[in-house]
Amino acid sequence: MNLNSPLFRAIFNNAAPRIILEANAPDFSILDYNQEFEIATHITNRDVRGLKIIEAFPIDDNKQDGKILINGLISSLKTKQIISLSPFQYDVPSADLKSTELSWWQSEILPVTDNDEVQFLLVTTNNITEKILGKNALDESIERENKLNIALANSHEELAASNEELQTNLENLISTNEELTLSRKELQILNDELELRIQKRTQDLQSSRLLLQNIIQTTNVAMTLLKGKDLIIEHPNPPMIKIWQRKLENVVGRRITDVFPELEQQRFPKLLAEVFETGKRIAMPEVPVDISYENGEMGLIYVDFSYDPIFDKDGNVEYILATVSDITDKVLSRKKLEENESELQATTEELAASNEELSATNEELAATNEELQEAQESLFLKNEELSETEESLRLALASGNLGIYSIEPETGKFDISAKAREFYGLPERGKITWADVINTVVPQYLPVIEKARDNALLTKQPFDVQYPILHSTTNKIKWVRVVGKSIPKSNNRVARFLGVILDITPEIEYRHTLEESESRFRNMAEATDVFIAVGDETSNATYFNTSWTTLTGRSMEDLLKYGWADLIHPDDRDRYVEIYLEAFKSKSPFTGEFRILDKDGNYSWLLAKGSPRFNKNGEFAGYISSSVDISELKKDEIRKNDFIGMVSHELKTPLTAISGFVQVLHSRAKKNDDSYALTALNRTYNQVKKMTVMINGFLNVSRLESGKLLIEKSDFQLDELVRELVEESDLVQFSHKINLSVSQTIIVNADRDKIGSVVSNLLSNAVKYSPSGTDIDVRCEILDGNALVSITDDGIGIDKEDIDKLFNRYYRVGKHHTISGFGIGLYLSSEIIERHNGKIGVESEIGKGSTFYFKIPLA
Ligand code: ADP
Repeated sequence: MNLNSPLFRAIFNNAAPRIILEANAPDFSILDYNQEFEIATHITNRDVRGLKIIEAFPIDDNKQDGKILINGLISSLKTKQIISLSPFQYDVPSADLKSTELSWWQSEILPVTDNDEVQFLLVTTNNITEKILGKNALDESIERENKLNIALANSHEELAASNEELQTNLENLISTNEELTLSRKELQILNDELELRIQKRTQDLQSSRLLLQNIIQTTNVAMTLLKGKDLIIEHPNPPMIKIWQRKLENVVGRRITDVFPELEQQRFPKLLAEVFETGKRIAMPEVPVDISYENGEMGLIYVDFSYDPIFDKDGNVEYILATVSDITDKVLSRKKLEENESELQATTEELAASNEELSATNEELAATNEELQEAQESLFLKNEELSETEESLRLALASGNLGIYSIEPETGKFDISAKAREFYGLPERGKITWADVINTVVPQYLPVIEKARDNALLTKQPFDVQYPILHSTTNKIKWVRVVGKSIPKSNNRVARFLGVILDITPEIEYRHTLEESESRFRNMAEATDVFIAVGDETSNATYFNTSWTTLTGRSMEDLLKYGWADLIHPDDRDRYVEIYLEAFKSKSPFTGEFRILDKDGNYSWLLAKGSPRFNKNGEFAGYISSSVDISELKKDEIRKNDFIGMVSHELKTPLTAISGFVQVLHSRAKKNDDSYALTALNRTYNQVKKMTVMINGFLNVSRLESGKLLIEKSDFQLDELVRELVEESDLVQFSHKINLSVSQTIIVNADRDKIGSVVSNLLSNAVKYSPSGTDIDVRCEILDGNALVSITDDGIGIDKEDIDKLFNRYYRVGKHHTISGFGIGLYLSSEIIERHNGKIGVESEIGKGSTFYFKIPLA
């Protein structure tokens, strides 16, 4: 079908709003619509062609009605039938698109088919919003009218019901009225009876009140009636009047608080009011009451009282019967008793306290007494000391070591002891003046004395001065020391100056000699080429001579501040400083060699010898060291070592050749069965071997000296090595029996050859220095984590003084010069063991034998 055919357009554009939708569910894209549709759906300003229907007119998901159209479209598409939809709400956007407009629609869907295929859907739709809204309003007002009608009918029913109730009530009222008339009559009768009874009770009451008044008046307990809340006094009896000390006519009919205004401040009115209110009795024993008497005086009385309520015929409290018994006398006498008792108590306590105080004082007194005793004792001791001091002073003075003089500046009086006269060379007898003393003083020392005196006056310190005098009789210079003190004025003595004089000539002379010897020493030390240094007992240097300062180019001050240690060659420093510090501990002489850096940057070898110094009391005072330059000697030694090394090396080559030939000859002789040649060659071989050992020794010494002795360590079994060497030794010597004892397998990490040469050397020494036929014991064991090898002989032994030097290079014990040797075996051995961080040593007794041992760490 052609949408643009004139016929279709004419139908399409007629008055009803129409829209053509594509048959593409669920989009239902808008193909076209007419002007009426535009107006009805406010889309005159926008073209919605091509949009999905719900894009053009979005459905509000909350309102089901919108979906009615879509569902209708779907079912028309399916059924290919015209579908008329019931009115549905499908709100369309307002013309300005700012809001949606409530819209109700009535629509008809016409599926337009072609070849039985739905081509598109023509929807004719009418906006019925106004119609719907008008109908809604009508429906509402009808509903309201219906509701009103129902309510009206309901209230009708209610009214009928209440009418009925009213009828019944009226009937009830009539019957109640009748009942009331009856009961009023009954009440009248009851009332009459009651009145009669009341009359009777009033009469009873009257008579009982009279009875009460009678009782009150006749009893000897103080009583009164108080009427009403105003507490009007009625019928107080004579005992009450007596307590009150008032006349009857002055109290009766008056308020009790008017008669006794002081009661207002006390608790009674409150208690009375309580009785009126509660109707309950109140009674209290021994209550103090302040009461005023007619003369205006106040009194304190003690009472036991009770307030009893008296009721009127209606059961209200009408009166209070106040009953009072005056117990003032009783209370007062009791109080007195109590007071007396508590006073007694206090007095007892006080007594106890003063008793304690007394005993404390007593103790204090005892302590003071003891202190006094002690003080007396110490006084006694002091006294003894004092007399001793006095005695020694007197002795000192008498023995002639001290002289005394005294001057009184005020009077000029001068006294001088015989000894002092002697010191100054003054006449033994006769008058001496201060000027005579001053005259003896070497003149240039007079200002010294003057100054010392002024200073003593200023500082109030004792005066102490030394000065030389010219002894007038001997004409020799003598030195005196004067220690003096000014003694202030006392009651019976004028102020004076007291001087004690000592002859110090010997000390001064000694000091001078000392100074002289010191300067002599210095002169000598300065004049010599030897390097001289002095150190005190704490190892601090105190002096270096000029040789030192010249060599090092450092000042004495620098050298004194340990400025010498850093100049020592690093390779020698620790060793020498250790020797030096060790010597301070043992306070014995030491020697040491070291290289020292000179001012030109070259090292010089010094040989230092230190001697300990002791002061005149025999106390260690430090060291004096003298060192000489041994650089040239050292160079010689190096040359010598080099020479030995070279010679040994050269000797080894022919020796090796000899050894080779000897071995060849030996095997030939064996073949030829030449027994003489065999013996001779055996001996030759042994001698060659000895020589090889000797040459090796020298070679090693030279290597050691030049620092070329190499230690090549490996793990090996020490016990095995020792066994091999013992067996080897047994092959070349038959003079001694060697006993080997090995405790266990011992693995060490060491230079096998070098350790072997140590063992060989010790073995051959044991053989050399013990008589033939004796035993040699070799032990190999583990001790304290070290491998220990010891070789014991029953030989000649070693002197104690030799033992320390045994391991020095070329050292041999003097007496053994008949036995061949060079004194290098033990030296080499000790160096080797030291390089293995081990220790070598000897224990020996002369004539009995020696045990040489060494230990090295286990692997
Ligand atoms: P050498 O034996 O060649 O003289 P050593 O260095 O081996 O050189 O020994 C140094 C010195 O120690 C010997 O000269 C000897 O006086 C002494 N000495 C070494 N071993 C013993 C020993 N077992 N008994 C006594 N003296 C010994």
